[in-house]
Amino acid sequence: MSILISEVGPRDGLQNVSAIMPTEAKKDWIKAEAAAGIREIEVGSFVPAKLLPQLADSAEIVAFARTIPNLVVAVLVPNARGAADAIRAGAHKITLPLSVSETHSLRNLRRTHVQVIEEARTIAGMISALPEDDRPHFEGSLSTAFGCTLEGSIPDSQIASLAAALMDAGCDEVGLSDTTGYANPVSVRHLIKLVRGTVGQNALTGIHLHNTRGLGLANVLAALEEGLDTIDSSLGGLGGCPFAPGASGNIVTEDLAFMLESMGLDTGVDLDKLFAVRSIIANALPNEPLYGFVTDAGIPLGFESRTGKAVLSA
Ligand code: ZN
Repeated sequence: MSILISEVGPRDGLQNVSAIMPTEAKKDWIKAEAAAGIREIEVGSFVPAKLLPQLADSAEIVAFARTIPNLVVAVLVPNARGAADAIRAGAHKITLPLSVSETHSLRNLRRTHVQVIEEARTIAGMISALPEDDRPHFEGSLSTAFGCTLEGSIPDSQIASLAAALMDAGCDEVGLSDTTGYANPVSVRHLIKLVRGTVGQNALTGIHLHNTRGLGLANVLAALEEGLDTIDSSLGGLGGCPFAPGASGNIVTEDLAFMLESMGLDTGVDLDKLFAVRSIIANALPNEPLYGFVTDAGIPLGFESRTGKAVLSA
């Protein structure tokens, strides 16, 4: 079985780092990670540069990433204006977050649920007006799905109706996002069943998990057992977690790839090449801690990756 690791470090990682990574280093990172076998990378976010100067070069990064063969170039957009920029830049996949907590949505995007759904409808309209071959894949991401720092847990009925509303507005797919690191394996299973029961099996294939409380990989396993096949993660857990010093924010890509390959699942990733990509980040952002257990401990003696190629100790 093949699992898609969707690298989100150049977006989720860098937006949580105050230093600005030089554009050339971002390009080197994306190129090297694609060469290590990662097939999808969220390379940026189309938000105003004054809000996130770290991602101000997203259009240039998308244009560069598109030159890499067989790489799906994904981006995040906060609204229809950002989506127009993302489409112009040539993104293959566009994700619009919808916080299922309306308080969080108002604080972060300054929009009610109804307004975000309207943005989704506008974006879907823009995409459907494009020639079929040029249409990016459009995902609505249910963020704070496992609980919100402002509202606590969100009722199932609200999550289900928002998932349905995103699909009705024209999204190709919805995703689940544990923005706050509140998920556990039982709640992961529960929400996957709930949302798939509402929008259908094929309209939920991916999950975005954080490792805030150390449950990231346990939650991945629960998601895999429910049949999801796309998992977001960040190289070196870049960006950390502002609420939990010492914890990575996103799941660490290296640990995720190692776990999946250990389980006999096919990620297409060459672990040695993947681990080597860390040096690009370390050189460009020397003050940022990088996380990862397998990169610290090394590959077990005798380990063979799914590709059958023996991997040297890191
Ligand atoms: Zn995230």
